[in-house]
Amino acid sequence: MEKEILKPSFHRSYDIRTGWDTSECYIFDCLICNDKMKLPYKDQIFTSNEDRNITQEECDYLKEFYNIRYVGKSHDGGSPSFGKVCCKQCKTNYFTYTGVSEPLNSCFHICVQGIMIAE
Ligand SMILES: [Zn+2]
Repeated sequence: MEKEILKPSFHRSYDIRTGWDTSECYIFDCLICNDKMKLPYKDQIFTSNEDRNITQEECDYLKEFYNIRYVGKSHDGGSPSFGKVCCKQCKTNYFTYTGVSEPLNSCFHICVQGIMIAE
């Protein structure tokens, strides 16, 4: 079964700009039960791994998986942020990979780059 919902792209544009766009969450459908899943954008900025419910080992795994260990930047040129979100309905865990850049002071561009089932 395909376990990736979203794959990274170098050409993807940001999903939101903070201070401009009012959308608070990136919405996607759970692959298992089709429930609506929410990834809060603001959780990707200035948060710790703990806040994002992910371990350093999982972050290292995702850097390897997405091939950005040596580049150190997300596909959109921002700084990579990883997290884990759980489906309320069926309890499936998803890894999330987001690029965060700050082209203007305190205005962040947030670009969701990867979502996949965590195993
Ligand atoms: Zn589900």
